[in-house]
Amino acid sequence: MDKAHHHPNEELLAAYSAGSLPLSQALCISAHLEHCPHCMQKLQRLNRVGSELMQQLKPAKPSSGLKDRLLDSLDSLEAKAQESAPKKAVDPSIPRCLHQFVEQDYNDLNWKRVSPDISSVELCRDSNGAKVELLKIKPGGSATTHTHLGDEYTVILEGSFSDESGLYSRGDFLVRDESDQHTPVATQDRECICLAVTEGPIQFTGLFSRLLNPFIRRGYA
Ligand SMILES: [Zn+2]
Repeated sequence: MDKAHHHPNEELLAAYSAGSLPLSQALCISAHLEHCPHCMQKLQRLNRVGSELMQQLKPAKPSSGLKDRLLDSLDSLEAKAQESAPKKAVDPSIPRCLHQFVEQDYNDLNWKRVSPDISSVELCRDSNGAKVELLKIKPGGSATTHTHLGDEYTVILEGSFSDESGLYSRGDFLVRDESDQHTPVATQDRECICLAVTEGPIQFTGLFSRLLNPFIRRGYA
């Protein structure tokens, strides 16, 4: 297992443990946890605290037949899951939480070139409008300087990149807010693939790329 050096903060992990994070952010935390025994340990501790708190709550008396109905629906859910479980041999280096989006590996995806150095593929949209995508930066390639209208969550899945704040490698988890203006540059040795969740449109801040912004915003309409 890789050792990540940049981790989600305690609040995010606690919200993940409580199941109160938006799905898109939870996906980023899951992808990070698969690379990070340190955060996994913290999460287990938070889960224990959560279950102790639950036990202190006074249980409500269930209505008659509730247990039977629950067991019936669990049986039928299990049967459905077994019927529809795809028989796939997914590249084991891809986090399990992303297996639902790929057939075998990242090459199966419908990558679209968004700049000479970057390709992207949208995986899904969260119900809060956040965009979940994979970004691929070619070796030594650079993303245009940009800021965001909302927070941006990034987990590095392959390779590494650096920006004004440091070097980020496989498993690292980053949150950038609206005030951060940064230019990620992939390291020369290999391409860099990241899971990225953006809550609002990216704002390019370079002189000519400013012209692109109205078109970028349309993607979030
Ligand atoms: Zn961690």
